[in-house]
Amino acid sequence: VSRFEGITMAPPDPILGVSEAFKADTNDMKLNLGVGAYRTEELQPYVLEVVKKAENLMLQRGENKEYLPIEGLAAFNKATAELLFGADNPLLKEQKVATVQGLSGTGSLRLAAALIERYFPGAKVLISSPTWGNHKNIFNDARVPWSEYRYYDPKTVGLDFEGMIADIKDAPEGSFILLHGCAHNPTGIDPTPEQWEKIADVIQEKNHNPFFDVAYQGFASGSLDTDAASVRLFAARGMELFVAQSYSKNLGLYAERIGAMNVVCSSADAAVRVKSQLKRLARPMYSNPPIHGAKIVANVVGDPTLFNEWKVEMEMMAGRIKNVRQKLFDSLSAKDKSGKDWSFILKQIGMFSFTGLNIAQSENMTNKWHVYLTKDGRISLAGLSLAKCEYLADAIIDSFH
Ligand code: PLP
Repeated sequence: VSRFEGITMAPPDPILGVSEAFKADTNDMKLNLGVGAYRTEELQPYVLEVVKKAENLMLQRGENKEYLPIEGLAAFNKATAELLFGADNPLLKEQKVATVQGLSGTGSLRLAAALIERYFPGAKVLISSPTWGNHKNIFNDARVPWSEYRYYDPKTVGLDFEGMIADIKDAPEGSFILLHGCAHNPTGIDPTPEQWEKIADVIQEKNHNPFFDVAYQGFASGSLDTDAASVRLFAARGMELFVAQSYSKNLGLYAERIGAMNVVCSSADAAVRVKSQLKRLARPMYSNPPIHGAKIVANVVGDPTLFNEWKVEMEMMAGRIKNVRQKLFDSLSAKDKSGKDWSFILKQIGMFSFTGLNIAQSENMTNKWHVYLTKDGRISLAGLSLAKCEYLADAIIDSFH
């Protein structure tokens, strides 16, 4: 008998498990709208041209594979903070931002969770209902208590702004409020600029700690600056804040695990101390981060030609998703005779659409139509082509009725 008898089977991951089921399906019409990864119109993975160019440069230069410092590549940390806050943001000159390279968005969130667990004992993190499935896992494993604030209103398929504000107000003073910087996952519903101001107001009133998760900068609207507006609005108020960043989507560097954790502090002195503790937490967890993705980002952002080419490719990716969104809306509106209002699809932004399909309906999508999606009814439009919109519309209408 094995010493591992006591180890039970772990459940499949609700997002990555969908890809496994998709792979096993042999039907020709199958469609994987589960995982949030960009695909071409031919539904193939896409490596950005600027990434290939940056990698060529790195090869030509014969760059080595020495260990990075614990906090990561200095040129990357500089570039990533500038992209986020704007290169001329006084916070950077005043050295008030502690930036460390992280293992993409997830690893950066996990590092921040460790900091919260160590230095803010008992503080609660408030996460949106619903949110990206991994947020709960991250805080659970870091032993940081969390609860939810209202976010999605099924009646309007829109934002429950009143509920959100009320719940943030009700949270114990000094809570961490996790906010999606742009392109909320899974709903695709973002607050308006006026609503962001109100959210900042209540967070300030209650002395809470804003904690942004920025996984889609540039990927939502096509503009890096537009997508960072929420973070910059908070920063401009002089608030201390946490911001996790990811380059998985906007540079297509999913497997390189490149991102960063930024902590905006009210003094340079505090920033130095915070950074030293982030490094201390990182050292026993993974020692130091990987170099390849960091060099790619630093090379792309550091070279004006490549930087501009990246922006063009980002607009292209965001544009393809917007086109698919429009075509899906058109197909649903033309085919559906029930009078249902599908305009929520056009109002949502980013990679995902939250369809409002319930679990049974989502299962119908998969079992009958071979369309794979997460059980919460979220579909990744990045995995959809114009050519498949009609088929998907048929599947959605059939599953709703
Ligand atoms: N946060 C959100 C809201 C996300 O949607 C994702 C990816 O789907 C991530 C963070 C982190 O992704 P990664 O760890 O690949 O950077």
